[in-house]
Amino acid sequence: MDHITPTVAFLDLAAQQTRLGASLRQRISAVLAHGQFILGPEVAELEKKLAEFCGAAHCVGTSSGTDALQIAMMAEQIGPGDAVFLPAFTYTATAEVPLLLGARPIFVDVDPHTFQIDPLHLEERIEMVLHEGKLRPRAVIGVDLFGQPAPWKTISRIASQYGLFTLDDCAQAFGASLNGERLGHMADATATSFFPSKPLGAYGDGGALFTQNIDRAALYRSLRTHGEGTSRYDVQRIGLNGRLDTLQAAVLLAKLEIFENELARREEIARTYDAQLQEIVKIPTRVENSTSAWAIYAVLFESTAARDAAQAALQERGISTAVYYPKPLHHQPAYRDAHDGISLPTAETVASRILALPIHPDLADEQVERVIAALISI
Ligand SMILES: *Cc1c(COP(=O)(O)O)cnc(C)c1O
Repeated sequence: MDHITPTVAFLDLAAQQTRLGASLRQRISAVLAHGQFILGPEVAELEKKLAEFCGAAHCVGTSSGTDALQIAMMAEQIGPGDAVFLPAFTYTATAEVPLLLGARPIFVDVDPHTFQIDPLHLEERIEMVLHEGKLRPRAVIGVDLFGQPAPWKTISRIASQYGLFTLDDCAQAFGASLNGERLGHMADATATSFFPSKPLGAYGDGGALFTQNIDRAALYRSLRTHGEGTSRYDVQRIGLNGRLDTLQAAVLLAKLEIFENELARREEIARTYDAQLQEIVKIPTRVENSTSAWAIYAVLFESTAARDAAQAALQERGISTAVYYPKPLHHQPAYRDAHDGISLPTAETVASRILALPIHPDLADEQVERVIAALISI
């Protein structure tokens, strides 16, 4: 038989499972033995460890990253008449949540180098909303896109100037840091996701909320369990069924043990890509004084045609890539009506030229070299 070229997978959870070894199975077995599948002891243990890991005062596990965002906004009673500012270049969940609550997402353009929310445009958009006088500016959601931190210092300054609640959509960046501190307390609330493909991923859905404020933390705990008060049958407010389940917490406890090593491996791969690809594509621009969780390593091509051709050629060589995101949110059918129609040129251009390369921690050096060699030959 001819030799078969091995594939380079975008994500390899089977290899990670092998690396986790016995600890994973021990953690899962413990849950099967005690049987507390809802809010069992692993949930509290994980919340404590995650808060310590990122330096946040409080952590509340949730059923997903999306529910974490929703609970944070419900706690602020954000709803009809409120404007929530967020980048147009992000995952759909960021915009979906304000709309579910009856608020209006106001799409903001992104920085052409880091792809993070553009603070100058954020200010412009807030002024636009104030000038129109129809909506109340209430909150800004900064997204730590692809694993790098959003410009939190500037976002916070603008937010305090206009009295906005700050929410960090840290779904892609748990473990990343800014100015020497891990993300988790850069905003009034920080939401993360444990979707399996995120840097710290469960074997199903999961998420968490972080805050420095004890009253907010208590409210989040109430909201994730149907708005309960002092007991399960004391209903204080309208909430959700939004808890992190015990089995996922057990999986995450096992994965947290190897997480720092995984972050280091992702960084190592990013540096290799940086060094060897900088002549042929636009490599990611690093956010100053930060480390990335490298959920995604995305490069820019000169045109859509060049991007699409490269993706097809890589696929032919057995190398999986992905386009995050092919469409900015203001162009999505579901959000078009909520958008005021202005163009957001950077988000539009980036979406048409971006390509994400494999960067999971189980990539072998030889596989990284294959991706690089393939791109060079194309
Ligand atoms: C994944 C993701 C979410 C949603 O997280 P889920 O756990 O899938 O609900 C929200 N925002 C961003 C930016 C994401 O990447």
